[in-house]
Amino acid sequence: MSEYQKPLPEPTPLSQPFWEGVRQHKLLVQKCASCSKLRHTPRPLCPSCLSQEFTWAPLSGQGQVYSYTVMHRAPAPGFQEELPYVVALVELKEGVRMISNVVGCTPQQVRVGMPVKVVYEDINDKASIFKFAPAR
Ligand SMILES: [Zn+2]
Repeated sequence: MSEYQKPLPEPTPLSQPFWEGVRQHKLLVQKCASCSKLRHTPRPLCPSCLSQEFTWAPLSGQGQVYSYTVMHRAPAPGFQEELPYVVALVELKEGVRMISNVVGCTPQQVRVGMPVKVVYEDINDKASIFKFAPAR
């Protein structure tokens, strides 16, 4: 096996629970303890009510493609062999949006509104990442 050539997650104290969730194949987002709004990416304050109190809530992992683009040039050498590939903004059923790749289909098959579900890739014993695949 060749060494993994792409960037790995670099958790901060704030995002560490999110990435630990991904390690365990769970998609967690912050839930405001005051107004219950969900938010992603991890932030210290609720953008709606400015509360600093929150819990971590699991998502279903189901959503749909909100927008996407097809990459034809690699941003770093590790991505070269995957060209062309899709980078999508996915809206989860619970309303939060996340950016990642759509895999498991050709770029030509991806459509705005296409149902997708989260899939996990275990890179090594410390890092996992999440992507999305067509929901069938
Ligand atoms: Zn709030």
